[in-house]
Amino acid sequence: ASGGRRPLVAGNWKMNGTRSSLQTVEAIRDGLAPGLVESLDVLICPPATLIGSCVAAAYGSPVAIGGQNLHARPSGAFTGSISAEMLADLGATYVIVGHSERRAYHHETDDGVHAKALGARRAGLCGIICVGETIEEREQGRALDIVRAQLAIGLPKGATAADTVIAYEPVWAIGSGRTPTPADIAEVHASLREMLDKLAGPEAAKIRILYGGSVKAGNARELMAVENVDGALVGGASLVAGDFLGICAAY
Ligand code: PGA
Repeated sequence: ASGGRRPLVAGNWKMNGTRSSLQTVEAIRDGLAPGLVESLDVLICPPATLIGSCVAAAYGSPVAIGGQNLHARPSGAFTGSISAEMLADLGATYVIVGHSERRAYHHETDDGVHAKALGARRAGLCGIICVGETIEEREQGRALDIVRAQLAIGLPKGATAADTVIAYEPVWAIGSGRTPTPADIAEVHASLREMLDKLAGPEAAKIRILYGGSVKAGNARELMAVENVDGALVGGASLVAGDFLGICAAY
């Protein structure tokens, strides 16, 4: 982390978890050292079915609960969809926007991400806007162009640190056990931060940029030490309390 930004470690459970997984939230809640959470934000994004019970389990603790997706509109005839207002009503405070799995399997576009980020802000949620290149794009030397364009289109005007977090997640690093080198991560984060400065003005310096993709307890310290990395978005390793707590402890 750098720039005086408070780091955020966010867990994305994806389509994993049933009511028995509340034990995991309880174990994370109880396992966080009090000294640690004075300088670290901790977030779990369970499947929507568990948000209400996770909010109850985390009540009064430093663990925030968030959604993994939202519909851009506040309500209406959108069968099966969930709005930012509904997430906020359950007690969620964050929502992931434009995860690469949503982009790949649900055809989410940068314009759609923009609309969803506006929806998150409307409901008072902090949107975690995800960007990241595919392996082909990286091999073609287009990684920076891709993520900068995703940010430029996805980020709503007037974004603030209260309503926006950015997550850089190279698609090829997600769930693969492969991570970019610290130098490659530093290059992308510096480029995103420069873009953010252009897009968000003076507020940009306060907006956090997370790294995501195969973050584990064993590599968290090295990844989090990279300049302009203000925390982690963690998939697989957020499903096991001990692993997730190990990542939090890397701070
Ligand atoms: P992973 O997933 O940590 O399992 O690679 C990260 C993500 O998709 O957010």
